[in-house]
Amino acid sequence: DRQTDTHTHSPWGSVAPLPPTCSLTDVMSEQLAKQLEEENSDFPTLTNPGADLLLSDEVSETTSDLMLAQMLQMQFDREFDDQLRREEKKFNGDSKVSISFENYRMVHPYEDSDSSEDEVDWQDTRHDPYRAEKPQTTPRKGFTGKGKNITTKHDEVTCGRKNTARMDNFAPEVHVGDGLGMDLKLSNQVFNSLKQHCYSEQRRSARLHDKKEHSTAEQAVDPRTRLLMYKMVNSGVLENINGCISTGKESVVFHANGGSLEEQPVPDEVVLKVFKTTLNEFKNRDRYIKDDYRFIDRFSKLNPRKIIRLWAEKEMHNLSRMKKAEIPCPEVVLLKKHILVMSFIGEDHVPAPKLKDVTLSSEDMKSAFYQALHLMQQLYQECNLVHADLSEYNMLWHKGKVWLIDVSQSIEPTHPHALEFLFRDCRNVSTFFQKRGVIEAMSVYELFNAVSGLNIPIGEEDEAEFIAEVTLSLSHTHTHTHTHTHTHTHTHTPNLCPCNKPIVFELF
Ligand code: ADP
Ligand code: MG
Repeated sequence: DRQTDTHTHSPWGSVAPLPPTCSLTDVMSEQLAKQLEEENSDFPTLTNPGADLLLSDEVSETTSDLMLAQMLQMQFDREFDDQLRREEKKFNGDSKVSISFENYRMVHPYEDSDSSEDEVDWQDTRHDPYRAEKPQTTPRKGFTGKGKNITTKHDEVTCGRKNTARMDNFAPEVHVGDGLGMDLKLSNQVFNSLKQHCYSEQRRSARLHDKKEHSTAEQAVDPRTRLLMYKMVNSGVLENINGCISTGKESVVFHANGGSLEEQPVPDEVVLKVFKTTLNEFKNRDRYIKDDYRFIDRFSKLNPRKIIRLWAEKEMHNLSRMKKAEIPCPEVVLLKKHILVMSFIGEDHVPAPKLKDVTLSSEDMKSAFYQALHLMQQLYQECNLVHADLSEYNMLWHKGKVWLIDVSQSIEPTHPHALEFLFRDCRNVSTFFQKRGVIEAMSVYELFNAVSGLNIPIGEEDEAEFIAEVTLSLSHTHTHTHTHTHTHTHTHTPNLCPCNKPIVFELF
């Protein structure tokens, strides 16, 4: 009730969340911490409640002050270790017997990607930590306990709730979350530092005003993801995270500089592909993964967050298969939850252009077509994979070669929809090269046959008929999931499954 109340009194009404604008490197910097400290003194505090709250739209950057604290702690630990190494060196000098300070180190070598469950997945737990169950009233100060219902203005709970309510007075761009709904109690100290943060962020944003690159996509990841990314920097796997290359519906891609992993150097330029952990988008894709027998027994037991991790894992496995077949593609460096680190295709921070964006001579374009054909064949025949999202968007042009990327959705040919997807891939590739004037470019049907090794007769070039033929030629070798319906409007040839139900081939 209190919440609705506050909302109706808010002069701004409810505001759609704005994309926050602050760079990752900034929030991770020690500089910011110093700034916060410096600016500490000239802030309005609770003793001066009338003071204006100067707020910026960047506050969501550090909605999690726990995360900020952890980041700073890790930065501190790392510097401590560096100092320790210097001291160790100085102490040992040229002496033949040396003493190791190793045991005093704060930062310990990076754990293996799968073994660590250092973050608590709250989705994994039965209890929703945000649900206000029985509010715990255990004030440290004040006079509760003696006499009934004695509260003072120092009562932690009352005060905390008031502070939470005050957050609603922050400027509309500030995402304060549903603190009231959760019966959140903010201590004065936390409230003050939030306010201070808002203020310092605004000053900072004024300084960065003209820097366009700071105003975009870095914020497309959530605090947990940023923390994971920061940990990679902190453990030395990465030197730097430089900025965002691409934000898509299903992933965000960052450019970074590699450091070293288990004493092995990481490529100097890498990308981090962060799979997005939202429910909506993964739903669109679950038809790819749920029928992939490699994942079938795991799929049923998983929560959305784990499913997102499966996407990353799938991309990793598919890339390794491709590497074995010597297909030009990114090389996997590390998988950490839903973040896949792989080599960067490009040079000096400039990513290789997509085929759709590159202007090539007709010679090169022709060569690109034959390369694409060969890649598709290798992928199908050697890697036992269908790309399933192949187009001029997912082929890069680098060093005179076509490189394949974006294979998280790639599937094995036995997947019930594999040949549909292969057909669609062929159509994209064929159409693209024909439009670019490559006379050698095959039709979708020829390409399909060339890639799959099937010999579907090409007659009237009627797509539905062609696909029906594909289905027919496969109906003997193929195991189907027995869930088909009886709507078979598109099947021209009656196909029978061993279960005697007609096979429905979904058109797209
Ligand atoms: P999405 O599923 O979001 O399309 P992609 O894997 O296709 O994910 O990556 C999105 C974009 O990021 C690509 O179009 C490409 O421009 C860039 N990109 C991805 N991986 C790399 C890489 N290894 N090297 C260079 N650029 C990359
Ligand atoms: Mg893509």
